[in-house]
Amino acid sequence: MAPTATTTPRKLLVTGGAGYVGSVCAAVLLEVGHDVTVIDNFTTGNRSAVPEGARLVEGDVREVAGGVLAEGGFDGVLHFAARSLVGESVESPAEYWQHNVVTTLALLDAMRDNDVRNLVFSSTAATYGEPAQVPITEDMPTSPTNPYGASKLAIDHAISSYAHAYGLGATSLRYFNVAGAYGTIGENREVETHLIPLVLQVALGHREQISIFGDDYDTADGTAVRDYIHILDLAQAHLLALESNTPGQHRIYNLGSGDGYSVQQVIDTCREVTGHPIPAQHAPRRAGDPATLIASSEKIKQELGWAPQRTDLHTIVSDAWAFHTQLGDQAHSADRRA
Ligand code: UDP
Repeated sequence: MAPTATTTPRKLLVTGGAGYVGSVCAAVLLEVGHDVTVIDNFTTGNRSAVPEGARLVEGDVREVAGGVLAEGGFDGVLHFAARSLVGESVESPAEYWQHNVVTTLALLDAMRDNDVRNLVFSSTAATYGEPAQVPITEDMPTSPTNPYGASKLAIDHAISSYAHAYGLGATSLRYFNVAGAYGTIGENREVETHLIPLVLQVALGHREQISIFGDDYDTADGTAVRDYIHILDLAQAHLLALESNTPGQHRIYNLGSGDGYSVQQVIDTCREVTGHPIPAQHAPRRAGDPATLIASSEKIKQELGWAPQRTDLHTIVSDAWAFHTQLGDQAHSADRRA
């Protein structure tokens, strides 16, 4: 990894800095010379993922962000803390409206109170719902199919209005399928629902087989197609967004590699990388899963000069595999909620 050098060290608040995306971004921010304070309550994050060199404030963003920002001197906020499981959001929407929307409103108000005008927000492709066509551009209609996507879209709207009315400078990054790892930081959730870590858990012997949700989609091999983006390319986009935020403007960018890979291709690549046969069984479609989701990331490439380096699925899976094997036989969640 060669992080982009920064000329302006900033004092930054990273919410959710113990989660998968937040911890990798926090590590990269530290490497380029920023001063990083992490807020995390360890509901889903791992204590050990908070990078060395970051200051840690343990607690709920809603309760502690105001006090932290009131200390003064903060130049910006990267907001990752959120509930992010689609299925859970359907079962327990109140959690998503409270922990995503209400918490973010509290954070936005704390930023306003303390005159912090630079925000990078982790939004999602789930704001678009089932797209009429791919690749998905930022001007396509947003029509989320679950409370998770709806909560993130509501936040995007709130950020726009805060930018317009209060001079906030913000970027929402709409992630497609984030994958891969950065050395010792990777996907290590207590409840795992994502394809690549689940397949790799089969290769590690922690699961018997992988279920392929749907084999009758209108795709080349019948399985669903997604756009997998390497976590380090994603982190790089956060650095660029932070440097380019302008008070009063809210920009929204899709973030994907622009290539689609089917579930079957992901499993085949995991077989190649791990050398394990990875038994797979066919299962019904998962409710609400579109056939194909592929990002157009042209806007961020053109406007911010973002240039993803690790778009090849083999690289993404290899990095994830290196992370999972070094986790070794420790229970995948051993240090959680210490
Ligand atoms: N998927 C699958 N089996 C699994 C988990 C996921 O076939 O055990 C499929 C899922 O239906 C989707 C793709 O893999 O088509 C990616 O799912 P994931 O949950 O990783 O990300 P999502 O696209 O839902 O954000």
